Amino acid sequence: MTNSFSELTFNTRAFRNPDIVTSLVKQINQLADGVAESLGRPVQIMEVCGGHTHAIFHSGIDQLLNENIEFIHGPGCPVCVLPAQAIDKATWVAQQADTILATFGDVLRVPGAKGSLQQIQAQGADIRILYSPLDVTQLAFDNPTKKIVFFAIGFDTTMPSIALTIQSAKQQHIQNLKFLCYHIRLMPTLTTLLDTGEAELDGFIGPGHVSIVLGSECYQPIAAKYHKPLVIAGFEPIDVLQALHMLLLQLSQQRCEIENAYSRVVSKQGNVLVQQTMNEVFKNSELNWRGLGNVANSVGSLQPEYAQFDGSLVAPQSSPCECDDSKYCADVLIGKRKPNQCPLFGRSCTPESPLGALMVSSEGACAAYYKYKQIPFNESQPEYSEDA
Ligand code: SF4
Repeated sequence: MTNSFSELTFNTRAFRNPDIVTSLVKQINQLADGVAESLGRPVQIMEVCGGHTHAIFHSGIDQLLNENIEFIHGPGCPVCVLPAQAIDKATWVAQQADTILATFGDVLRVPGAKGSLQQIQAQGADIRILYSPLDVTQLAFDNPTKKIVFFAIGFDTTMPSIALTIQSAKQQHIQNLKFLCYHIRLMPTLTTLLDTGEAELDGFIGPGHVSIVLGSECYQPIAAKYHKPLVIAGFEPIDVLQALHMLLLQLSQQRCEIENAYSRVVSKQGNVLVQQTMNEVFKNSELNWRGLGNVANSVGSLQPEYAQFDGSLVAPQSSPCECDDSKYCADVLIGKRKPNQCPLFGRSCTPESPLGALMVSSEGACAAYYKYKQIPFNESQPEYSEDA
């Protein structure tokens, strides 16, 4: 693994330095022109993480780059890929007597087949928003006559804190607490995306936060098996530009490597102690995610030693959701369509009245387009059809 842009050393103030931005943009555009010419089309770069999608639009990076670079928005938003059945399960739990459902705020407005958690809350269900997973043990102590269920979602990034909370609950012999876990594992998700071949991708901007946990080495199959370069990036404008520059340099030199432009926090091996804790509490299982379908080893489910905390055993299995939005959202999630190529975008689907999770989540691609790009539905695109 190399870091081919090591000549630039950054300090905090330099992350938005206009001179560095100007210089990087010029170099990136030149490289993109050359690579696009050899490809016969624009270079297609997927930013895996929804945080990067928002960083790109928030800082206007997309407007600085020329037409030979196209961003394909990836599935790296845990709320967005959450299957509607998961919402339905949480909804069912929240409606049970003497039950408190605890969760993170983002997921509250995501529609399921029978409405959102927010709608259930308005009808009287006791749903609490937590800011730290460890708060749920206190909630259980404070409400000994209630059943507390923590609806926990996230990528590998949030798994460690949930794993520690579950271990802590076990050590404290907490009896009235369960966890409904939907933690999506990044690597199986990425390889499934590449296996589908739905989006034509030339390289990846790798996620920053997940990489802090997993380390940069875990991405080697992306280069070795799928022959795609990947550069891990931070979330400041220059972080993203540096990663793009490194990617385009690789493509122009016909290299295909895993590189790290976020080495101030991401190491090769990641946080090994945290990985051990995750593996003690979770095992990998298969789940059907929105847009991605069934993905083997993609969800962290509880190990048998922690079965007493498994909230998935409490709720009945719900049938697949026939939500109208699922096809549109699915295509955006796998990079097949841009948000403004969904006919519902900005019309019936807005942040105030979302029809899909991608318009709800703070990391959703549709929310990013609506907030920063303020562009209407793309009328010039071909008519949307199931075969498209
Ligand atoms: S605009 Fe709404 S319905 Fe369309 S893809 Fe985005 S979230 Fe889904």
